[in-house]
Amino acid sequence: MNFIVFLGAPGSGKGTQAQVLADTYKEHVIHLSTGQLLRDAIAEGSECGLYAKSLIDAGLIVCDEVVFNLLEEKLKNISSEKRVILDGFPRTLNQAVLLENFLQKTRKQIEKVVYFDIADAELVNRLTGRFMCADCGAVYHKHYNSPQQDGVCDFCGSHDFKVRDDDNEFVVKKRLDVYHAETEPLVSYYDAQGVLFRLDAAQSVESIKKTLLKKIKLVAAE
Ligand code: ADP
Ligand code: AMP
Repeated sequence: MNFIVFLGAPGSGKGTQAQVLADTYKEHVIHLSTGQLLRDAIAEGSECGLYAKSLIDAGLIVCDEVVFNLLEEKLKNISSEKRVILDGFPRTLNQAVLLENFLQKTRKQIEKVVYFDIADAELVNRLTGRFMCADCGAVYHKHYNSPQQDGVCDFCGSHDFKVRDDDNEFVVKKRLDVYHAETEPLVSYYDAQGVLFRLDAAQSVESIKKTLLKKIKLVAAE
């Protein structure tokens, strides 16, 4: 199991591309979103979910150890043959160190960090127009990226959609502030390690997908 990290601001398109790649390469690629792990914990009503909900709703990030423990637990059940796309983790320098220690311990590595580079103004449009499938979590946008058949999820056929509580303009602005303060320093951190690929995330979903497929060899797993 080796890792590809998708790094970028909320709304930069990490989840959209990870979901397309995981769907294209079902046998080889797993999409792991720490945001989704936390939303699952909230839906289960676990202690961790209760703690995380108020932070997420306020646009803040959850404590490093709590998120890392959730992630580590999930990774235990993933075959070592797979490539894992980490979407939304690490989000702080301390999380990058926790991941580094885990990789050393398990003799795994980060193959590539894809940085989704895009201006804040566009992110507000993207996040305030986002909606998702209530059953499989597939992500759409009311103008830029709607399901092929109106009202039907492309991935699972569900007719049920929802909007995230934290995708309102006030919370989005807070999330962007937190991103610049806590997560953006990871761009130079990974650049210095020589693993960063800077992607123009303002392109269309299709064109980014093509670029990613060229840049990352996703099929052959070590
Ligand atoms: P992230 O996972 O980085 O928070 P998402 O993948 O959920 O971002 O995308 C945020 C919103 O922007 C969604 O509504 C999605 O449909 C839309 N979106 C994603 N990629 C693009 C793109 N390349 N062009 C236009 N809209 C996009
Ligand atoms: P996302 O689905 O990536 O937009 O994440 C939704 C929310 O979950 C974020 O705004 C954070 O509050 C929380 N979250 C997700 N991933 C992390 C992480 N790696 N560290 C801390 N908080 C996280």
